[in-house]
Amino acid sequence: MVGHQYDLGREASVVPPVLVFNVTGRSPFVLACDHASNRFPDRFGDLGLTPHQRLMHIAWDPGALAVALRLSDLLDAPLVASTVSRLVVDCNRRPDAPDLCPAISERTDIPGNRGIGANERAERIGAYHTPFHDLLGEVIETRKAGGQAPILVTVHSFTPVYKDVPRPWPIGLIHPRDEGFTAALRDALIADGPELDVGWNQPYSALNGVTYTLEHHGDGRGIESTMIEIRHDEILETDGIIGWAERLARCLQAAHGSRGGAANFIERHGQFTGGFDG
Ligand SMILES: [Zn+2]
Repeated sequence: MVGHQYDLGREASVVPPVLVFNVTGRSPFVLACDHASNRFPDRFGDLGLTPHQRLMHIAWDPGALAVALRLSDLLDAPLVASTVSRLVVDCNRRPDAPDLCPAISERTDIPGNRGIGANERAERIGAYHTPFHDLLGEVIETRKAGGQAPILVTVHSFTPVYKDVPRPWPIGLIHPRDEGFTAALRDALIADGPELDVGWNQPYSALNGVTYTLEHHGDGRGIESTMIEIRHDEILETDGIIGWAERLARCLQAAHGSRGGAANFIERHGQFTGGFDG
């Protein structure tokens, strides 16, 4: 609420809080992009940040939505994406997390989040956090009701250096309580590119309280899930985006197949149209 009038009616008519792409896709994978956007809805102004700060990783996951969209095409998978900055409300945090609307991110003060009260917090949850999770839940539950065994894949990107500490892995995988599918994906990535340095529970793990979406929709709904983190300097340009999306499409399908998923899917649907063709 930094110096701007609040007009939810106008805002709601312009941009919905969450978007779903390819909702009828036939893949068993359901993609989610919690930190897809650095949009600050009108009523928040700029939260006291410079244009440069609003472009940085503190506001969103650069490149993640581009990879997720391409992956959605290649796999023929639905994709649910938030349309607001994580600095407004972080969809990958529990609603009661202290850093849900962070007053500081890495080392940057977020003036517009300083001292916000319970009402403002509840309003942000209701306007953006709840719609994202409700829609993701609906996509997953619709598939379960249709006899599918969906696998949730969340797509993120991370900054190459955090608080002066370099992060060497081009990709990191973070698993929920059951690490099975994530381990299969790690094995598939290494088989696909033996030179690839795949971070395991890097650049952080579920123990850091940053995997709400996996916990809520993966563990919470009894389905397999995994969290993919790509170092964002890998996916800032088109070649990198396409290359990573194609690699992930190959490896997600290989991981699914290695766990018997492809066979089950063919049995249920007659043919495997999981999209990747090259
Ligand atoms: Zn993220």
